[in-house]
Amino acid sequence: MYSFVFFRDKMLRTWLILSATMIVDVDHLLANPIYDPNRCSVGFHPLHSYVAIATYILLLIPKKTRLVATGLVIHMALDYLDCFV
Ligand SMILES: [Zn+2]
Repeated sequence: MYSFVFFRDKMLRTWLILSATMIVDVDHLLANPIYDPNRCSVGFHPLHSYVAIATYILLLIPKKTRLVATGLVIHMALDYLDCFV
């Protein structure tokens, strides 16, 4: 029983991180064209602006938002890497 609760908790955490990273991608869908390989997402979309990124980093500090913020920061890092490839 103990392990089941632990597992469910872990699933919920993973799900939270995944959904957080997916929600910010709504930004990409609002853009026109939706996908432009020559465009750098960071600094272009409102949820990918430097102000937004600074907010995500601040959200890493409180324990409650840390998990979601981790997902968001990872997402921004990956999008940022895209700018160099
Ligand atoms: Zn993105």
